[in-house]
Amino acid sequence: MNSSLFEAFRQGVLPWYEQNRRDLPWRNTRDPYAIWLSEIILQQTRVQQGLPYYLAFLSEFSEISELAAAPEDQVFRLWQGLGYYSRARNLHRAAKIIATECGGSFPNTLEGLLKLPGIGPYTAAAIASFAFDIPKAAVDGNVLRWMSRLLGSDAPIDLPATRNWIQSELDEWIQKVSPHLFNQAAMEFGALLCSPVPKCVLCPLQEHCVSFLQGTTQTIPVKSKKVKVEERFLYAFLIQNPRGEFAIERRAKNGIWANLYTFPMILQETEMSEKDILNAVLSQKWVSPSLERLPQPYSTVHLLTHRKLKVHIFSILLKNMPKNASIFERWISVKGAGELGFPKVFEQFLKTQFPQYAGRI
Ligand code: SF4
Repeated sequence: MNSSLFEAFRQGVLPWYEQNRRDLPWRNTRDPYAIWLSEIILQQTRVQQGLPYYLAFLSEFSEISELAAAPEDQVFRLWQGLGYYSRARNLHRAAKIIATECGGSFPNTLEGLLKLPGIGPYTAAAIASFAFDIPKAAVDGNVLRWMSRLLGSDAPIDLPATRNWIQSELDEWIQKVSPHLFNQAAMEFGALLCSPVPKCVLCPLQEHCVSFLQGTTQTIPVKSKKVKVEERFLYAFLIQNPRGEFAIERRAKNGIWANLYTFPMILQETEMSEKDILNAVLSQKWVSPSLERLPQPYSTVHLLTHRKLKVHIFSILLKNMPKNASIFERWISVKGAGELGFPKVFEQFLKTQFPQYAGRI
């Protein structure tokens, strides 16, 4: 263990945290259910965006048993606008497991937490330390960043060996202080001070920081590889009947946007010509065979973790109720759509087209 750096952290960062910490509701509770909710919501979501969702979930489901008993669509509806719906799905699955297999009580060990869907080593350590004061360092991207800079390490932070090394060093530090205070301070320090563009001038670790002293704060941390982002092309069709309802379908249980609702759509690895799109629509019998041209689409680019989706949504107004209306899984009004879970890109489209759309986005 690097004792001098630990002492610098203990004497510098812990008091800094006490004076500068943001007052966030999940920091004022030891309830594992509330802490878990906050941790899942804040994965891939900024604090200011996640806060209203945290409050809404606790207001709708004050106990984990209520979340476990809720229909999945209700959970998706509350999640609208956050994206990455796999988190909502895992939240719901974990609540059911806790209700049925753990007697309604949250597991109070790291091993027990790690068995739940959606909980990896970082989230388990965060819940374990915040709720139960278990001394396990919660090592997220913020923590990897400031530790790499403090040590002046150019070991790539996306390699397991680097993560394990930093984890084992911090697991020793956390033994010597209050675990929940340590993890809160370590994460807040990375989020507010040793951020991607660090505020070194305000930093209590400045004189100990190798990266600051060597002028390498812009190049550390290092990553070994860039995530390969693949391009995909999504063509979707808002097909509206004369009653103003539009056709929707539910995605399969597996694959992209599992269990969410979308308009009829085609997902392709290569770009389609206008003619090919029209032919595909006609061959699916989604519209009258007399349709000669598609209207100008609503076009946008939507980023997923490993995918860049080029999205085109075509609005098609049907003059008559189609004879084959049952080809579509369901027709829904704009008001009804606000009750269902749609992928974020569809929510954004609905909000743009229909001011009365009641999604949360
Ligand atoms: S001196 Fe700068 S780079 Fe070093 S730990 Fe502090 S904020 Fe991060």
